[in-house]
This record gives sequence, C-alpha cells and structure tokens, in this order.
Amino acid sequence: MSSSASVSMGSFHESLGSLQEVRESGRTKDLAWRRSQLRGLLRLLTEKEDDIFGVLHDDLGKHRAESYRDELGLLVKSVNHTLRNLEKWAAPEKAQAPLVSFPATALVVPEPLGVVLIFSCWNLPLGLALEPLSGALAAGNAVVVKPSELAPYTAAFLAANIPRYLDPRAVKVVLGGPEVGEQLMELRWDKVLFTGSARVGRTILTKAAKHLTPVVLELGSKCPCIVDQLYSKRDRQIAVNRMAGAKWSVCAGQACAAIDYILVEEKFAPILIGLLKSTVKRFTTTPECMARILNAKHFQRLSNFLVDDKVAASVVHGGSVNPKTLTIEPTILLNPPLHSDIMTEEIFGPLLPIITVKKIEDSIKFVNSMPKPLAIYAFTKNEKLKHQIIDETSSGSVTFNDAIVQYAVEGLPFGGVGESGFGQYHGKYTFELFSHKKAVFKRSFLIEFMFRYPPWDDTKTEM
Ligand code: NAD
Repeated sequence: MSSSASVSMGSFHESLGSLQEVRESGRTKDLAWRRSQLRGLLRLLTEKEDDIFGVLHDDLGKHRAESYRDELGLLVKSVNHTLRNLEKWAAPEKAQAPLVSFPATALVVPEPLGVVLIFSCWNLPLGLALEPLSGALAAGNAVVVKPSELAPYTAAFLAANIPRYLDPRAVKVVLGGPEVGEQLMELRWDKVLFTGSARVGRTILTKAAKHLTPVVLELGSKCPCIVDQLYSKRDRQIAVNRMAGAKWSVCAGQACAAIDYILVEEKFAPILIGLLKSTVKRFTTTPECMARILNAKHFQRLSNFLVDDKVAASVVHGGSVNPKTLTIEPTILLNPPLHSDIMTEEIFGPLLPIITVKKIEDSIKFVNSMPKPLAIYAFTKNEKLKHQIIDETSSGSVTFNDAIVQYAVEGLPFGGVGESGFGQYHGKYTFELFSHKKAVFKRSFLIEFMFRYPPWDDTKTEM
C-alpha cells in the first residue's frame, strides 16, 4: 500500500483494498492503536502550528488568532477530551435484562464500523476534516478524508501531513473536486459523513443508496437570532459583542452556524443597530481582523444579494464590496423584503438583515415559518420566552445569550434537523456516530421456563 500523501483515483481501488485488509486484521480496533493515532493528531497540530496558520491564511485570509480560536485550539481541546474519555466510551455498557430471562446479562458493545469516508467543507477546512477524523479513529475505524478543493492550501497540507503523523495504511487523504467526490461515492463505505451544501448532500444521499451506506449530512441553514430588549447598558453591550463576534469574526460570516438574520422589536431596533455599528467598527479596525470571501464565485453570490433595489435601499451600515481583495464590508440591512433572496437563501457571508416584529414573541412564528435551522440564538433574560423558544421551535441547537460557542461544547451534540441535516457529532457523539452499538445478550442454563414453548393451550396466556 502506498504511503504517499494523496491517492489518485486510479490507484484508489487498490488502496481501498488495503484499508479493508487493515480493518480485517483488527489493528484499528486495538485501543492502543487508537490512542497512538490521537496522539499523532496532537503532534501534527502542535508541531505544524505555523504551517497551519499559513495555509488558513492563504485559503481564507484568516488571522492566526481566529485560526487558533476556531480551528487549531478547538481541535487540540477536542482531541485531548477524546483521549481522556476513550476507555470509558469504548467500554461495554450494561443494559437491563428482563426478569423472565434471569439469570442473564445484557450489554451494548461499541464496535468500529469499518472503513468510513469524510467529506469536509472549506470554511473551517482544518476543523471540519480533523474533528470527525479524530472521532472516527477513536472509534477504531480506517478513514478516508476528502477535503474541500476550494481550500487548496489546507487540502494539500492535510494530504502531505496526515500520512506522516497517522498510520498511512489506515488513514488516507484523497484530493479532488466534485468528480472525485462522485467517484468515491461509487464505492462501498461503512459510513459517510458529509459537510457541505444541501444540493450536494442530495447527490451523496442518492449515491449512498446503491450500497445502503449510512450517511450523516451536516448542512447549512438560515440561523435566526432573536434579540429581546435588554434593559441594562452593560447587558446590551455584552450581547452585541457576542452577536458581532459570531457574525463577522468567524470566517467573515461564512460559517454554517453564523447568525443569518436578527429578529427584534421595532422600538428596540434603532438602539440595536447603533450598538452593532459601533461594535463592528471597533472589531474591524484593520483589514486583517476579518477573513476574506472564499473566491470570486462566492463574492459574486454575496454581491448579488445587494443588487435588488429594495434590498440595497434597506442597507443601514456598510454595503461596499471590493472584488480585488474579495472583501465585503460588514453590512447591516433593516427590513429587506421577506421574499428577496437575502431572506430566502442562506447568506453565508458578512451581510446581516434585521427584521422587526411587533412583540418579541412574534419571532417564534417567524422562525417556524422557515425551514428548521442548524441553530437558534436568543438574547434575553425572560425565562418564559426561553421556555417558549425551546418548546415551540425545532432546530439543531438553541443557545441563549451567546452565539456559535455551542460548537465548542464537547458535551453537546452538533448537527442539524430537517433541512439542516441529520446525524450529530462532537465529543462522545462522534465516537458513537462511527461505532455500531452491538447488542450482546448472555444467558445461562440455570433456569428453564417451559411456558415459552408449544404445545399451546390457554393457560399459557394467563401467566
Ligand atoms: P459543497 O457542498 O459544494 O462541497 C462540500 C464537499 O462536497 C467538498 O468536499 C466537495 O468537493 C464535495 N462535492 C462537491 N460536489 C460533489 C459531488 N457532486 N459529489 C460528491 N462530492 C461533491 O460545499 P459548499 O456549497 O461550498 O459549502 C457551503 C455549505 O456548507 C453551506 O450551506 C454551509 O452552511 C454548509 N456547511 C455546513 C456545516 C455544518 O457543520 N453543518 C459546516 C460548514 C459548512
């Protein structure tokens, strides 16, 4: 088997054969092997820190501080969490056995699925590849990673370094675009985790049907942020720091869980807009403070949102775009038409519509009129409203008084519902996602009840 950095599709069938051999040999099941892979990942992340900052900057113009906060630092934290808990997660779990089967033992034994495929996306090109990879290795699988071709520096970095730090016979990186993705989906996998658009997600799901391959889809959506009137100046400023940080400082809004739009009461909107303007100005004093738009195609997609006259007229802050530097100013819009593209499509960029409602409770109806989002955010101290949001809406997650940070909470599952995807990962949930929960039932010969067998007569239903 080749230990070269990446694998061409020509030699891929051969390579996959050896991945199966690795699995069949049982070596990836061994907890010591799993630990060594996780330690290898930690070494990769620490020894190659400067290269990582370099490729994330080259792909997206991310500052080192942003890259550390959102990708490198989070990954180190997450891999350490997995290492600390691996033994516990991999241990068989006792289940209750029915009295009628006494004496008996019921166990749930996690077993590796086999060979799994991970498609990652370009906006967190390191994190979205290595976070699921670490969990798949912890669960004892052989893994193929297909990074996004749209973040080519990070993809090349992964292809060059993963074979150096991890077992090259069990972990492969395949480079390429949609055509390579489609060819990969012709093959038989034990599970596929896909992060990307709903459009490609549909293709993945259709192709997976051929081999009955289980699929996890991590997709996008329009994540709403409900902002209640907060009465203290301090609370308002903290809330706005968190909103502005989540919208503009995470890959310039190109994040699946970014705030897509804000819902606020009419009378509070001018105060909120004033605070957002002053805060985003402070957060973006130099161009390095914000990542750039991925490429010309995405730049055009975002610029097109502003072409509509009524949308352009709703801009209350920012709005300038620079095709040369692929940058778009943090932009706030007040009440753009609800039927315009900016309010019907996922924005995935630094444009922030604010929609006013009469009463804050009306925002629940608004959220429910849209497809189920990956996340709902709400800034409020009103416990009744919090309960209403939890009980009366559906989304991958709900976060109160902050935004996006739920992504970093290892104890919480991360994933969508409805059109924002299905299947959840992070922490223990990644381990479970890439494991089969095998039911094991052990009986003894001590007691035998004959009523379970024929010949049948009515006394056997009177027990
Ligand atoms: P995309 O869907 O075009 O691509 C994602 C991956 O699929 C890439 O690796 C790509 O090479 C591959 N691919 C593309 N076409 C393919 C095909 N026909 N067959 C097989 N593979 C194919 O990515 P995009 O549209 O640029 O991503 C943006 C979307 O991803 C947004 O909607 C965003 O919200 C979502 N996203 C979701 C998460 C999450 O965790 N839920 C994270 C990041 C991004």
